[in-house]
Amino acid sequence: MLNFPLTSIKGIWRKNISGLRKLGLLTVKDLLFYFPTKYKDFSKVKKISRLKIGEEVVIKGKIVKTELKKTPKKRRTIFEIIVDDGSGLIKGVWFGKLYLSKILKENQVIYLAGKTYFDKYGFYFLEPIYEFESQLKIHLARIVPFYKETKGITSRYLRYLIQKILPLARKIEEPLPKEILRKYHLPEKSQAISWLHQPKNFLQIKLAQKRFDFENLFLFQLLLTLKKRSLKKYLSPKIEIDKNFLNQILNSLPFKLTFDQTKALFEILSDFKKSYPSNRLLEGDVGSGKTIVALIASMVVLKNKYQVAVLVPTEILAYQHFQTAIKFFSNFNFNFGLLLSKNCRIFSGGESAKVKKESLKREIKEGEIDLVFGTHALLYEEVSFKSLGFVVIDEQHRFGVKQRKKLTYQKDVLPHFLSMTATPIPRTLALAVYADLDLSIIKQMPKKRKVITKIVAQEGRSKVYQFIKEEIKKGSKVFVVCPLIEESKVLEAESVTKQYEKLKKFFSEEILGVLYGKMKPEEKQNVIKNFIEGKIKILISTSVVEVGIDIPEANIMIIEGAQQFGLASLHQIRGRIGRGGKMGFCFLFCDKLTPSVKKRLKAIQEAKDGFELAKKDLEIRGPGEVLGKKQHGLPDRIMKVLNDPEILKLSKEGIDFILKKDCALTQYPFLKKAILEIGDSVHLE
Ligand code: ADP
Ligand code: MG
Repeated sequence: MLNFPLTSIKGIWRKNISGLRKLGLLTVKDLLFYFPTKYKDFSKVKKISRLKIGEEVVIKGKIVKTELKKTPKKRRTIFEIIVDDGSGLIKGVWFGKLYLSKILKENQVIYLAGKTYFDKYGFYFLEPIYEFESQLKIHLARIVPFYKETKGITSRYLRYLIQKILPLARKIEEPLPKEILRKYHLPEKSQAISWLHQPKNFLQIKLAQKRFDFENLFLFQLLLTLKKRSLKKYLSPKIEIDKNFLNQILNSLPFKLTFDQTKALFEILSDFKKSYPSNRLLEGDVGSGKTIVALIASMVVLKNKYQVAVLVPTEILAYQHFQTAIKFFSNFNFNFGLLLSKNCRIFSGGESAKVKKESLKREIKEGEIDLVFGTHALLYEEVSFKSLGFVVIDEQHRFGVKQRKKLTYQKDVLPHFLSMTATPIPRTLALAVYADLDLSIIKQMPKKRKVITKIVAQEGRSKVYQFIKEEIKKGSKVFVVCPLIEESKVLEAESVTKQYEKLKKFFSEEILGVLYGKMKPEEKQNVIKNFIEGKIKILISTSVVEVGIDIPEANIMIIEGAQQFGLASLHQIRGRIGRGGKMGFCFLFCDKLTPSVKKRLKAIQEAKDGFELAKKDLEIRGPGEVLGKKQHGLPDRIMKVLNDPEILKLSKEGIDFILKKDCALTQYPFLKKAILEIGDSVHLE
């Protein structure tokens, strides 16, 4: 329906087809949904005698004279008309538009609009918009829409085309239930389309926009809610919570969990009691202690004779988590595995040993290994489990049923699922985008961090290097984070090398190390090892590499090109230092320290936690920035609404209302269809 090509519209010029295509307009439907980018109020006609210079106005009068001329020097054609409205005269001037002399003739009554200019002959317009009095008003004497244009396709032409097809808007299917439209006083879809293209007043525009904002969010969140519900069709592994065992675990730790950690742990454990698989997101700043929470929950699962998989983004982190598990939980007689591309290990009977990958995989399959650490890719591509009960995944927010099924060992039973993120996403935003997940948030930090953050202009560089030299003598370790580079691994490596060359001039080469995405896993591991052991004192890396790395002695950090980073990500990167109890120093180097950069970075110096900064980012840069551009994969139309509390509220209410009434949506076939369609366009994994 309405998917027929634009060429089928009568009166469309062939030569315009390619221009229309450039704007993404192929079908009648595309054109109906090609909404204006702005409006001008040309509804009120002004008397010529009342005009002021430089204002944008509409006048109406009779053409009293027309003239075709040439410019004196370049000999370009000029077409001029003089219009009289009884109160005064004004001239309209066009360059090169010869054809206008055949359209605009003496004695016609017309509207003219544009910005007014004044010279010794009086008022004039340059290239004004015109409209005949006798015609349907689409270009003037109304609120006039303006569209994104391209060569040969003007807003005037688009208005003309849309005018022709607008009656077809009536055939657009209405996905939103009537009750919802009535409840929230929203116009029907076809009505809203008409209002956006030919509004009678600004209220119509506002209501129509609200309707589409609502529709976009409502469909998206309904999709997520249905996804969440669909998990209830599956069974979960039966996991009992043995209180004695849990206490034993908690008492064995060298520290007490914070209140937030405890709360998150109990939320995870209460998921286990349910008969269907859980899907929870654990949010918390870097260093807020998510890992230990996930590992304690894992121990509870192991106690029930189910296996656990911990999936992390990099091999180094997998190694680190494996070590953490050994450090804290070696006394409980479970077997741990580390599955990396080249380096596989098993921890069993109090000892850690290197093993062949094949034998590790076999032991996982036979259920000999209880808890296995690996990267996202390795685990779900290569491994089968005997009885996987719980999956923890670090730094990846969603996990579809399809991926889950890959990790299952028995039809209809799916493991519980916990994902963790250090991106502090404000609660309202998280609830909106992750409506398919349950949410736990850790805000408290276990240890008070002591990090002094300084904003440094180029001149300050050598002074900072001198300071670092002294600190290294006292046993400090330093991170140098290179400027933000997206997408290109080659450029990444270049940028790291450049910093290396720069630092070589100040520090001896032996104490410098580099780390970037393109390096081989063994090389990376080696560098990290040398950094931990202290052979390397200054580690130069990109911002994306090894986010969760935990090296307590590292207490100094330089961030190059700091002005390019979002506040929340700066905070996250900075979170790698100041963990060991020593005073930390973070230097934000900026190429150009403008007042606005300074102001933004100041927020970093003052903020209490990442959530506060993320809120600021949300205000300054919008939801896309806070969620991470690459990760969210959400279309702009949804992004845009995530910041609108009213729409968020209505959407949630509306979803509850509809699902309570008809959770299978049988009464709402068009709604169901629309959800399936957006399901294709939104990537949620
Ligand atoms: P995250 O994964 O949230 O970034 P980690 O799990 O790496 O944070 O924890 C950071 C450090 O804090 C680790 O060394 C961990 O052992 C330690 N830690 C975790 N919880 C506590 C706590 N309640 N008290 C003291 N130290 C803790
Ligand atoms: Mg972590």
